[in-house]
Amino acid sequence: LPHHCTTKPNEHTQQPAKMTDITAVQERDVTKVDRIGAHSHIRGLGLDDTLEARKVSQGMVGQDKARRAAGIILEMIKEGKIAGRAILLAGQPGTGKTAIAQAVSKAMAKDVPFTMLAGSELYSHEMSKSEALTQAFRRSIGVRIKEETEIIEGEVVEVQIDRPATGSGQKVGKLTLKTTEMETIYDLGTKMIESVIKQKVAAGDVITIDKASGKVTVIGKSYARARDYDAMGPQTKFVPTPEGELQKRKEVVHTVSLHEIDVINSRSQGFLALFSGDTGEIKPEVREQINAKVAEWREEGKADIVPGVLFIDEVHMLDIECFAFLNRALENAMAPVLIMATNRGITTIRGTNYQSPHGIPLDLLDRTLIVPTVAYKPSELSQILKIRCEEEDVDMADDALELLTSIAAKTSLRYAIQLITTANLVCKRRKGLEVEKGDLRRVYTLFQDLERSVHFLREYQAQFLFDEGEVAAAPAA
Ligand code: ATP
Repeated sequence: LPHHCTTKPNEHTQQPAKMTDITAVQERDVTKVDRIGAHSHIRGLGLDDTLEARKVSQGMVGQDKARRAAGIILEMIKEGKIAGRAILLAGQPGTGKTAIAQAVSKAMAKDVPFTMLAGSELYSHEMSKSEALTQAFRRSIGVRIKEETEIIEGEVVEVQIDRPATGSGQKVGKLTLKTTEMETIYDLGTKMIESVIKQKVAAGDVITIDKASGKVTVIGKSYARARDYDAMGPQTKFVPTPEGELQKRKEVVHTVSLHEIDVINSRSQGFLALFSGDTGEIKPEVREQINAKVAEWREEGKADIVPGVLFIDEVHMLDIECFAFLNRALENAMAPVLIMATNRGITTIRGTNYQSPHGIPLDLLDRTLIVPTVAYKPSELSQILKIRCEEEDVDMADDALELLTSIAAKTSLRYAIQLITTANLVCKRRKGLEVEKGDLRRVYTLFQDLERSVHFLREYQAQFLFDEGEVAAAPAA
């Protein structure tokens, strides 16, 4: 599971109080893996301020109602107050369910975790289904840790400039600071000292240096002075202090997921597991300890819980045990928002002989907000295909796009999207400048869509191995 499970990266910059091992997480710069490049054009839900869906915006087209519903859910997530809600995106294949979930992820704040998982990924020999689900849940809960940074502060006693004969690139000076504890000579880099010198930092000014970020704040003696300093640009910030008050501490906030804290503190795993993704099973005792510690931090005002989103695609692939787990897990005070997607109608719940809508047990369905997605109009299909052409850097003639749209309506949107790059290859082969109808016709005959494939099987099934007779009719996509 962990190999496939993608979690939005958090922005770790600081070492949190006490849990020193967490440092390892800070250094990890996980790039969000776009598992399905098919959605790379989606940049958000494309809603206006009143949560109405713009016709075409942020890569999103049509599906207005579902997008509006997702917008409301997003607002709830942003408020950070809701947890343990379940949402089901239900609709026929290719109606944008995954696209909408991706859009929610893109629109979420950076430090709110979003975990994506396909139902089929739960079946692995490496860990039990409940462990895999627990990990997915805990990846989707952020712990926002507040911390004060260490700041060196002191009054400037002397500005000493050692300017070497030959220009830049070397350290050009020293700043003598008298801090509260001791007098230090602060050796600063070229850029910094140059600008400090240029602005004539004088003895008597107060300087603070944030050890973590290296950001320097000079607090001038008068407001007029401070304004002069302001002109210096973003690297150095100057703050007026009429009363000579010093801002001693600065609060830095960073977010890690509960799962990351689990892994780091799990002796058998160690933080390196975060890199390999091979975290294995985590002992319940570790999780209990972490929960207790986080609860303590919350009490002390040092941390907040940030419920994120767990998105389970192909949720009908879950079995009755997984569904029972979800039902229970959603009751937990530290549950994320669960977004599920399915394209199934009434079907058997895995692991049982019972049928249920979407293959999901009624008790879970009952607590779920169901958001339907509907089939696209030709104009919307055309718009989506156009966006995909731009995304894949393919120039397509207008009449070819028209043909592709009719192919999408007749077969499926997914199939039509597949033809964009393939037709472009054919176009390039003939040294064409833009994809034309002929290129599309060519790939249409080379690659079959579902319906033609089924038709082909019907005709030739007797010649295949292990033939068991009638093929189910192709679903209308
Ligand atoms: P399935 O049930 O088969 O998983 P789905 O409903 O999840 O299908 P998607 O995978 O989201 O469908 O959509 C198919 C393709 O069409 C993707 O490339 C997706 O990004 C794109 N797409 C779907 N709907 C929209 C939309 N409203 N705006 C822009 N692109 C869309």
